[in-house]
Amino acid sequence: MAVRLTILGSGSRGNCAYLETDQVRLLIDAGFSGKQIRQRLATIGRTPETLNGILLTHEHSDHATGLKVIAGKLGIPLYANRLTLDAVSSQAKSTFQGKIFQTGCAFDIGDVTVETFSIPHDAQDPVGFLLRTESVSIGFLTDLGHATAMVLDRVRPANALILETNYDTQLLQADTKRPWSIKQRIMSRHGHLSNEAAAKVAEALISDHLSHIYMAHLSRDCNQPELAEKTLNQVFLQAGVNHVRLHRTEQDAPCPTLCLDASVQENPMEAPPQIAHPQNESGVVAAGALAPAKTINPQISDSSQASCDDHDAFFRRLMNDLPPTEEDEPADAS
Ligand SMILES: [Zn+2]
Ligand SMILES: [Zn+2]
Repeated sequence: MAVRLTILGSGSRGNCAYLETDQVRLLIDAGFSGKQIRQRLATIGRTPETLNGILLTHEHSDHATGLKVIAGKLGIPLYANRLTLDAVSSQAKSTFQGKIFQTGCAFDIGDVTVETFSIPHDAQDPVGFLLRTESVSIGFLTDLGHATAMVLDRVRPANALILETNYDTQLLQADTKRPWSIKQRIMSRHGHLSNEAAAKVAEALISDHLSHIYMAHLSRDCNQPELAEKTLNQVFLQAGVNHVRLHRTEQDAPCPTLCLDASVQENPMEAPPQIAHPQNESGVVAAGALAPAKTINPQISDSSQASCDDHDAFFRRLMNDLPPTEEDEPADAS
């Protein structure tokens, strides 16, 4: 089975990933404008119209900005829990073709089993995902203030992990754009993972089968890829582990496609798959051994900044490296 993963972009200003198997084409979050998502999919020869679904972790705009176009206008099914669906519907003033799942449940979309689990983050009902096929498992773990034992257990089968490395603690503390209240919020147990916290997660997940870690959701102001990489590398160095490949992600351009199967063909599939979209089904596919992976460089034709200025002021400013303003602060901000 061919399993391809392309991080279309990741960082505090937008997050979107694309997963393709023999049967399905999925987005995980849609944190760029519809135009940006279309342009980024085009770099790997895909279009939004051929998507089978969008999996949504939570309603913050750096994950949901493109929903109005991709899920709304194009009618691509949106997989979310009830609270998150209500939140994005309200934000976008739009109704979506929602496929509601219960947090903690698993369901199938074609040949992909989607396992969902709760994560501690300042949103309505934020989740992480473990996407499983017959041969590989891919974990999505961003936007969490801390990793609980349950979270670690849920992503433990992952062969590839998209892991938040949001900020360097010293850079965040020294940052002059953010008031202390915002810094506290980012560093809180419902905020984001620092490089050091991500390293602890990686350390706890070291195994023979975990082979790829994407350093994701970096703050542009309060982190640097070299710092995140150095912090994670130290863990593997100390553990004597040399089979884990660290991947940097970029805000403005897709990553090379990771092919998690040795038998995959280099050319994209010709025809979009046709599948049903079951709701609230459960099922767990056994983890398999990870075949050797390889990457394909997409033809990157666009590296312009995502434009999503008209959405969700507070969380965009909190996580999008913009100085917060008084009117952005929710009345119940802790
Ligand atoms: Zn985010
Ligand atoms: Zn968030």
